[in-house]
Amino acid sequence: MTRSDLPHINCPECGAENNSFANVCWICRRPLYEGDELVEAEMVSPIGSPRQDRVGRIFGIWAFIFLGLGVMIVGLGIYVDEPGILLPYLILVTPLSIGIGVLILKGNQSENPWLRGIAMSFSALIVSAGAMVLLGIAAIIALVAFCFMLVAASGGF
Ligand SMILES: [Zn+2]
Repeated sequence: MTRSDLPHINCPECGAENNSFANVCWICRRPLYEGDELVEAEMVSPIGSPRQDRVGRIFGIWAFIFLGLGVMIVGLGIYVDEPGILLPYLILVTPLSIGIGVLILKGNQSENPWLRGIAMSFSALIVSAGAMVLLGIAAIIALVAFCFMLVAASGGF
């Protein structure tokens, strides 16, 4: 639970939003409690859900990063294997991935629940795929490092 999830108290004097644990208004210093009782002030929940928007945006950005990494890795593979088709590949895939990325970024923050759901699950798919690839790469690096350590420890080289 973060601070912004806590219910707020609107100051009856000046209308400023105060945290529910504040004793006096942070703007006009009017007491908000009299003993244990709230003074003519009501508890209100913070408006909207900016947290959800932020999660969607972060998700979209990560999906975009992984998408870009994927395009780069595949492009590198093509360059090594068949340099001739790298340019057509880039021409075809770059706008496509940027389009998908923008769609995800926009869709994650969309008011439309359907579009939002599709974009969120799509970015979840890309992010989990990217995370798995990264984990795989990390595992390979760790394994190689481990082998080098073994060789070094046994007096090789
Ligand atoms: Zn006040």
